[in-house]
Amino acid sequence: MNAEIIAVGTELLLGQIVNSNASYLSKELALLGIDVFNHTVVGDNDKRMREAVKIAEERADILIFSGGLGPTQDDMTKQVLADHLGLPLAVDKATEQKVVQYHADMEREMSENNRLQAVVIEGATVLKNETGLAAGMYVEHEGKKYILLPGPPNELQPMFDNEVRPILAKLTEDSDQLVSRVLRLFGIGESQLAAQLETIIDTQTNPTIATYAEENEVSIRITAKGQDQDQCNQLIDQMEKQVRDIVGDYIYGVGSETSLAQVVRDLLVNKDYRLTAAESLTGGLFQSSLVNIPGLSLNFIGGLVSYSEGIKESVLGVSEETIEQYGVVSSECAEEMADKVKEMFDADIGISFTGYAGPKEVDGDKAGIVWIGLAVTGRETQTYYYHFGKDRNGNRKRSVLTGFDLVRR
Ligand code: ATP
Ligand code: MG
Repeated sequence: MNAEIIAVGTELLLGQIVNSNASYLSKELALLGIDVFNHTVVGDNDKRMREAVKIAEERADILIFSGGLGPTQDDMTKQVLADHLGLPLAVDKATEQKVVQYHADMEREMSENNRLQAVVIEGATVLKNETGLAAGMYVEHEGKKYILLPGPPNELQPMFDNEVRPILAKLTEDSDQLVSRVLRLFGIGESQLAAQLETIIDTQTNPTIATYAEENEVSIRITAKGQDQDQCNQLIDQMEKQVRDIVGDYIYGVGSETSLAQVVRDLLVNKDYRLTAAESLTGGLFQSSLVNIPGLSLNFIGGLVSYSEGIKESVLGVSEETIEQYGVVSSECAEEMADKVKEMFDADIGISFTGYAGPKEVDGDKAGIVWIGLAVTGRETQTYYYHFGKDRNGNRKRSVLTGFDLVRR
């Protein structure tokens, strides 16, 4: 069973919006074991839309449309498809009632256009729209399946969840399941990772394994095909073990939603550790990134942005000698910053960041040089040296993620 996603909308072709519906639908279809071999994007133009439908019918069993179900002139998906299939359009009474009621409730005048939202292809199963007005549709015709969904993601996603998934699950009942697991890595580049995993990637057919590069991170996706979820998960477990034997040190979490900050949060909460930070080049980004995730109010207690030399000395208490002898971008300064802030906030972990964010060199010292200090109760304070790039904000982000990675280890 395979599907093609046809995203309709001139805004997509103009680059004004990103085709996130295709990405969402592809992920969901993969979980259902439905292959997607093609994404099509077509403008609000009936001739080109028909062409797209004809091409998709030649190569896919299921055609899933996103967009163009609304009440305006440029919304023509259902008209084009009805014409193409030679089926009439009809008003769906329940949807019409809903549209009328909505306008009454909102004290809005209803235009004839709005009634179009209740028009469906005759014989279609109407898919309820919980968060909007336009009805979705499921049509079976001459062996092909057509699914029409509204464009706005906040309408499309619940409709897919509640109405479409059960239909597709039924269609795929007898075929294989597909299950994926994502491992998240930090501190290794995609090419290095691919090289280390080369033999497994090349020889493996089930599960398959693929690497993906994201900003500052890489992911490994392991995908298994099997009769049911259990069988797939067993295959994935075995593969995950092989992968961990090679690059386990870089793996910080499982699941595409996981982030380093979340892993740090879970660690702090589970062990009941209190964390603080003294930040120079990161300017509060480390602390802000922590506060971005919920659930840390007892474990992240506060910290300092000590950007200037003077504040490092007068507020944080880094000694004058250290700064004079080694400079502020030094192992010694990072160490003292971590120790002092940990003491000041009475924390279990104190982390510090000092470096040259760039892009320019400072007095011959290279941009992108960063020292991170880590003071942990009961351990000797450690410092870590990095030489990132020339991109100022890139360096700041990398410093923060590296800080999280050091804490989680
Ligand atoms: P409406 O009733 O809101 O007009 P519609 O079903 O007619 O919905 P479109 O008019 O094509 O859908 O798109 C409406 C909005 O939905 C777009 O402005 C855009 O914000 C969002 N949208 C449309 N297509 C996509 C897509 N492929 N990915 C992400 N968002 C989309
Ligand atoms: Mg529209």
